[in-house]
Amino acid sequence: MRLQGKTILVTAAGQGIGRASAIACAREGADVVATDLRADLLESLAREAPTLRTHVLDVRDDAAVRALAAQLPPLDGLFNCAGFVHEGSILQCDEAAWDFSFDLNVKGAYRVTRAVLPAMLDKLDRTRGTAAILNMASMASSVKGFPNRFAYGATKAAVIGMTKALAADYVTRGLRCNALCPGTVDTPSLRGRIASAADPAAAEKAFIARQPMGRLATVDDITPQVVYLLSDESRFVSGQAVLVDGGVTI
Ligand code: NAD
Repeated sequence: MRLQGKTILVTAAGQGIGRASAIACAREGADVVATDLRADLLESLAREAPTLRTHVLDVRDDAAVRALAAQLPPLDGLFNCAGFVHEGSILQCDEAAWDFSFDLNVKGAYRVTRAVLPAMLDKLDRTRGTAAILNMASMASSVKGFPNRFAYGATKAAVIGMTKALAADYVTRGLRCNALCPGTVDTPSLRGRIASAADPAAAEKAFIARQPMGRLATVDDITPQVVYLLSDESRFVSGQAVLVDGGVTI
């Protein structure tokens, strides 16, 4: 039980990497608060993993974020997973699309972190314990450029910068902060991007071909790294952008 005794909040836990991560953290003994925009997804998650606590949470809604933070015990772990992939170059990205991507992918993590951090730090000061924040970035970020990921890459680069700044501010207080940078992961939103392509079979082939390992990641390829970075096993790791990318950036 690698997360026994830890209370961990996960955003975007309704499906994909967030859902699998919430379940993996609960299996390792954490008291998991699984949140998502969509109540229907949380209902099916609660049926699948009845020990989880679920709360509807839109990370774009600051009042809702603050209200949930006020109800929770101090967290020992936070996984800011919520994010959206805008597809297109700069010429396909108007200001509304740019603002939406930053509001969800970057400001969402900022809002949740700012709301829960004072209680986390207070607990750390009282207990001399440890805590960890994990922010969802991507290999498509400051790590590597990809075609048609203009706004997306910019937001995920910002997430890495925010992660390093947080890590620097709190490294002496027992709080670590890292960013996770997956390759292409088989999730509902990826399936949606494939299905909406002009030639879905070719799109799927192209997504697979990006990974030298010759396949898409499954969510189960990603969750061990999530558990590790939220657990005390990674106690000497902070401020890192950790790649789980099937060899893309070799
Ligand atoms: P997904 O895109 O299939 O699901 C996203 C979840 O986020 C949904 O449950 C949705 O309801 C929720 N959500 C949407 N807007 C929200 C909001 N405003 N507040 C709270 N929840 C909201 O899941 P995924 O593909 O696993 O992606 C999760 C994260 O991983 C994203 O940040 C994404 O950028 C990142 N990521 C994904 C991949 C990939 O290939 N799938 C690769 C690298 C990084």
